[in-house]
Amino acid sequence: MDLILNYSFLRRGIKVKRFIGMAKDKVLPYGYQDIDQDDIDIVSDALTGEFLTTGPLVENFETALKNLTDAKYAVTCSSGTAALHLACMALGIKRGDWVIVPSITFLATANAVRYCQADVLFCDVDPNTGLITPETLRNAIQDARKRGLKIKAVIVVHLTGRHVDLKEIKEITQVNKLELIADSCHAIGGAYDNMPIGKSYYEQINTFSFHPVKAFTTGEGGAITTNNEKLASAIRQMRSHNMIKDGSNENKWQYVMNDIGYNYRLSDIQCALGISQLKKLKGFKQKRSRLVKFYNSKLKKFFPKITTPDRYGPTIFESVNWHLYSILIDFKALKISRGKFMENLRQKKINTQVHYIPVHTQPYYTKLYGSLNMPGSMEYFERTLSLPLFTKMHKDDIEIVVKALEELL
Ligand SMILES: *Cc1c(COP(=O)(O)O)cnc(C)c1O
Repeated sequence: MDLILNYSFLRRGIKVKRFIGMAKDKVLPYGYQDIDQDDIDIVSDALTGEFLTTGPLVENFETALKNLTDAKYAVTCSSGTAALHLACMALGIKRGDWVIVPSITFLATANAVRYCQADVLFCDVDPNTGLITPETLRNAIQDARKRGLKIKAVIVVHLTGRHVDLKEIKEITQVNKLELIADSCHAIGGAYDNMPIGKSYYEQINTFSFHPVKAFTTGEGGAITTNNEKLASAIRQMRSHNMIKDGSNENKWQYVMNDIGYNYRLSDIQCALGISQLKKLKGFKQKRSRLVKFYNSKLKKFFPKITTPDRYGPTIFESVNWHLYSILIDFKALKISRGKFMENLRQKKINTQVHYIPVHTQPYYTKLYGSLNMPGSMEYFERTLSLPLFTKMHKDDIEIVVKALEELL
């Protein structure tokens, strides 16, 4: 913990909390951005450019994302949520359709389906990884067929950065004629089957988020990648009001809108930050990997009270860009509530988080679909806890977390 925290005032009197790193008396967050002077410089440059939005930096950032993912098309947008909404719209998801979504994910994965007036068919997950599996997916499809529901698509989530079995899931979706979206918001920078996450080899569309807790940031921001030109150009159009411009000289001022569109654009200022951050992704991934390995080695001795993520794969550890360090704790056996456990850690200046509250238990969804039986999701949810993991963290910080856990156990 060698860096400082100070408060400064911008010239116009706006109070900014300037976070350079961890101060000794600062609470360790569960996730945090990594912004350096070169990020600040490139954003400053962008502010003096001709375009503040939809200028050359958008294209530049999209090219960088294509290079990273090896997908043919990358389209940026204003958030990971917007990316999911655009992906669902591009695949023609609409009222009357059902879309399979894992119950353990962020709200946005399911909500994007509802934005299209379609219905969410929650799918159970593996109790140890929180991932949708070929088996839980088959069960969900069978259940839907029995109920006569028209399933249109599946959205899978690479929870914590660990990958779902895309290959087998693709086979299932193909047999059942379903579209496949990968919500890869946790997984950018990783690789699956020796291909970069986002390549869209098995899945039609990938979605990404550049929120500050994710692998790299643009403040708010998101993107989709795909190899399908039609999907990419539909998304590009919907991102900006679904406005089509007539390119010919005489009619340059004209535009038409055949269907509803949105303002889901990402600005040049944000893309400047994205370009700079993306250059550091490889280093960020290595740093996270080192921290995760250190955690794993330090926490091994607490098994079975604590289960570290390496116990359940993946087989190729290096292929994952770990977004979260989520361990499983048997709170029931320890006879302590998770809330109390987290509060005790917070008193030791360690913030933890739960990823996630099963989405099917949210009141909005129980009102729509009643209370569902998702034993795998509940078992995962009841045991999961995300410990601090961010690139500005040091091994000393992990020692502090481990010591705090030891005291609590
Ligand atoms: C962060 C996240 C989103 C939403 O991204 P935003 O950029 O915050 O809108 C969607 N799905 C998952 C799995 C996420 O982690």
